[in-house]
Amino acid sequence: MSERTESESRKLLGRLRDALAEEAAGQERLDRITRLIATSMGTEVCSIYLFRDSETLELCATEGLRADAVHKTRMRVGEGLVGRVARSSRVINTDNAPAEKGFRFMPETGEEIYSSFCGIPIQRLGDNLGVLVVQSKDSRSYSADEVYALEVVAMVLAEMTELGAFVGEGAAMTARHQQPEIFRGTSGQEGAAEGRVWLHEPRVVVTNPVADDPEKETLRLGEAIEELRVGVDKMLATAARGDREQLDVLEAYRMFANSKGWMKRMEQDIARGLSAEAAVEKEQSAARKRMEQVTDAYLRERLHDLDDLSNRLLRILTGQGSETGAELPADPILVARNIGPGELLEYGRNLRGIVLEEGSVGSHAAIVARALAIPLVVHAERITTEALNGDHIMVDGDQGIAHLRPDDTVVAAFRDKIAMAAQAQERYASIRDKPATTLDGVTIGLHMNAGLMADLPSLAGSGAEGVGLFRTELQFLVQNKMPKRTELAALYSRVMDAAQGKRVVFRTLDIGSDKVLPYMAPQDEPNPALGWRAVRVALDKPGVMRMQLQALLRAAHGRPLTVMFPFIAQYDEYTASCAEMDKALERERILGHPLPASLEVGAMLETPSLGFAPQKFFEEVDFLSIGGNDLKQFFFAADRENERVRRRYDTLNVSFLTFLEGIVNRCISTNTPLSFCGEDAGRPIEALCLAAMGLRNLSMRPASIGPVKSLFRRVNLGEVRDVIIASRERGDQSVRPAVMEYLRNAG
Ligand code: PEP
Ligand code: MG
Repeated sequence: MSERTESESRKLLGRLRDALAEEAAGQERLDRITRLIATSMGTEVCSIYLFRDSETLELCATEGLRADAVHKTRMRVGEGLVGRVARSSRVINTDNAPAEKGFRFMPETGEEIYSSFCGIPIQRLGDNLGVLVVQSKDSRSYSADEVYALEVVAMVLAEMTELGAFVGEGAAMTARHQQPEIFRGTSGQEGAAEGRVWLHEPRVVVTNPVADDPEKETLRLGEAIEELRVGVDKMLATAARGDREQLDVLEAYRMFANSKGWMKRMEQDIARGLSAEAAVEKEQSAARKRMEQVTDAYLRERLHDLDDLSNRLLRILTGQGSETGAELPADPILVARNIGPGELLEYGRNLRGIVLEEGSVGSHAAIVARALAIPLVVHAERITTEALNGDHIMVDGDQGIAHLRPDDTVVAAFRDKIAMAAQAQERYASIRDKPATTLDGVTIGLHMNAGLMADLPSLAGSGAEGVGLFRTELQFLVQNKMPKRTELAALYSRVMDAAQGKRVVFRTLDIGSDKVLPYMAPQDEPNPALGWRAVRVALDKPGVMRMQLQALLRAAHGRPLTVMFPFIAQYDEYTASCAEMDKALERERILGHPLPASLEVGAMLETPSLGFAPQKFFEEVDFLSIGGNDLKQFFFAADRENERVRRRYDTLNVSFLTFLEGIVNRCISTNTPLSFCGEDAGRPIEALCLAAMGLRNLSMRPASIGPVKSLFRRVNLGEVRDVIIASRERGDQSVRPAVMEYLRNAG
């Protein structure tokens, strides 16, 4: 970079800052800027085009073109050279504009044939806001230095556009962050919610893009980077050794924080007149642009890391921490790129809804959102850049859609949907204390799934008979270190207290596969779902299971206790687990602690193999619970986490139902209590077919109990069974169409 460039761009930016500092309304400011650029650069024309909507650009200020064309001349993205700059986000710099592809002569602007044209995209953090154009009659090509100066001006313009410096002067200038936007993602948890955006990591606002003392700015940047480095080193020192993913991120942070190239580029921008903050943001913008082009997942992750690091640096520089002074609204909808289960738990039930840019249906955050029954949308791309704190937002967890700043029609339709759901809830509340008895007199036990203390209030509210599945892994997942036995015992005891004598089935730790503990060495397995997980881990490394069994026995403190082992694939895994329980009981006896009044030890049937286990297994086991989520994935060999295949096979497929019926019959022959606790138990039609196949106990999310019970109370189960059998005999692949038709006819 030549000395001249630095001082030229600094001079230009200095004048720009002065122009901006003067009292002036939005339009006047823009006019001043175009005048200033034209004069400083010795060009006949300087114009600013801003996006009016996502497809149209509007001429918002000009020096050199006709003043009455301002706010009238519009063009579509891709149209003419200006439109091409907007579409490609690339600079077009030519000394022979008419010869350029896409050139369009616009006489309405009083445009003469200008030979030279330089168009610069106005962007902020990878978002296109408009185009800055200079034109002159003589056939000159703008030098790299001049282009750089214009790029910096465009960035400052972008910053001001974002800040609303031009608001109030024409639609184009107010458009940003005010228009309705729809984000189509994936449903992580059903339900509808309306509220105000609460950004988990608020955007940093740079109010001083231009600075006149480069030395001071360089010093500020240096100090901030040093603080950043110290912070990253601290995080690395305290990070959990076993968490490869977290370590990868922190290593990437450290690499970027120490990168000379990154620092140098930012110093160069400061030398050209930007403030330290603006220099960081310029680099961040460039990284975001690269991110859009990179398809490699690993590289994208690293660019994301750089983005995060830039945000941290901006927070240090501006002093705007996560605490921006903004107050959590009364009806917060959390918007974040991603969030950990622990952080989500801290917000707890305060949240009305959650929209994540990343995340996945099976992530821990999704598990927590489900446990808290908060509507969740994942994969809502770009939401964190588009949403501002306090924006009105509606979350459709059923469809996986978020409506940001919705217009009146969407609001009306959405409120109808919420009202209908509320009416349905009222209906469900009215049958809360009634049994799920079908018209032909069969009563199905409805229980709830839980995993958090926070779930327990639903036990009374939903009308569940008890907790059919208490997933104990959440306590292990949400903190960075192994929970202590005393902590677990206290928690389990509180759960039993809250259940007030109703049965709670505690499932021992089910880790591995998608559930990786942050403090345990992750296993690099080719096929984690088929790998070293759940009871396999527990039996090979029994320390944690022993601690957990002891905690459960202590928590029961003389009360009845029910424990279930996950993922039992063959008989000896059950007997080995029972042997651990016996040892734990013996230890407690020796220590003189009170033993449970009664103890049931069951197994989850999650692999097809267990359905064919020897008769003695069915005779010995105290009860069985079908984990339909896993059982179905193994039955059809279709990964439950894989969007491509997870919905490919219907639960109501005849083969699967017939298999389930076989398990039911074996349990009947041995008098083994049987329940079903996968997600399908909470889907009314599926629940109905499971009952028709002979299942008499279902465990589901508390919110599903009402709808499931409501359906049961209105059907004749014997008739549904006949429909299923007839459908099977006809050779249907799935019984769903036949059952649906029957229900429609039955009204
Ligand atoms: C299941 O597999 O159906 C089940 C209930 O367990 P999880 O979803 O926790 O694997
Ligand atoms: Mg399972």
